[in-house]
Amino acid sequence: MTDLGFIGLGRMGGPMVTRLLDAGHEVTVFDVSEEAARLLVERGAAPAGSAAEVGSAAEIVLTSLPTPDIVHQVALGEAGIVHGSRVKTLVDLSTTGPGTATRIADGLAARGIQWVDAPVSGGVTGAREGTLAVMVSCPEATLEVIRPILATFGKVFFVGEKPGLAQVAKLGNNLLAAAALVISSEALAMGVKAGLDPKVMIDIINAGSGRNSATQDKFPRAILPGTFDFGFATALSYKDVRLCVDEAEALGVPMVLGAVVRQMLAVTNAKFGPDSDFTSIARVIEEWAGVQIRG
Ligand code: NAD
Repeated sequence: MTDLGFIGLGRMGGPMVTRLLDAGHEVTVFDVSEEAARLLVERGAAPAGSAAEVGSAAEIVLTSLPTPDIVHQVALGEAGIVHGSRVKTLVDLSTTGPGTATRIADGLAARGIQWVDAPVSGGVTGAREGTLAVMVSCPEATLEVIRPILATFGKVFFVGEKPGLAQVAKLGNNLLAAAALVISSEALAMGVKAGLDPKVMIDIINAGSGRNSATQDKFPRAILPGTFDFGFATALSYKDVRLCVDEAEALGVPMVLGAVVRQMLAVTNAKFGPDSDFTSIARVIEEWAGVQIRG
């Protein structure tokens, strides 16, 4: 038995579990990738053979999983957390969208388990350094119990009690992050084709009014060096923007630019594959423009 359980030990989950271990928590972990679990077991985590086993080892279980369907399966499926004998609270750090969050919350409530939305923003660096923005929706009484755990990951923003509300904040954030990448790639491609040094152009933008998360972070780290390894898969960004545009439509909010960003991710996904890094959006624009943004 441990005080916490954690399922999904990937780019985000791995460093988050490391932070929990470093903070003195005992953590039972599970991932379908044995390699991902092994690395954390070597650092002191306790291994489990299924999500249900994690739910039998800890009262509070956290998840950081790729897609809404997988979160649903891991929570409520055959060998899911819901079948654990100890679990009382499930904290989902994934980006699942409000619809899935609400459905899982209802399924868990029927079994006496509390659902907490806690999607995060700030990337792999934020997960490693504990500087994520953690958006939370859950009952206030639950928040008091889990706040110290979430504070291990970064700054906690409580948005309300309604299941899925934090997910809406997260989708809006991720739409903007992807849009910034698209529009900044277009501006840089134009500059480079005209003869500007891309590094100088990025420095100018970052000292001026065009600066954004892509020019400040993604271009210097993963596009100008040509590594395209920022740490966020194209498939996941595409999923987030799809969820966002769908949610906006359901709410009766037109998203003209959002729909274009979704299509840019569809192109990137088709061309470079779902496992490519989402900074590959710049490679699509490079190809269309016939230039390389490197420096
Ligand atoms: P990832 O693909 O690197 O990690 C996901 C992990 O889940 C993998 O280790 C995978 O093996 C595991 N997994 C898949 N199916 C499973 C199952 N059925 N049971 C147990 N484990 C399973 O993804 P990531 O980048 O760490 O993202 C995780 C979540 O966090 C996603 O919802 C993503 O949208 C969100 N997110 C990612 C970032 C980022 O920059 N990478 C930032 C903020 C939020």
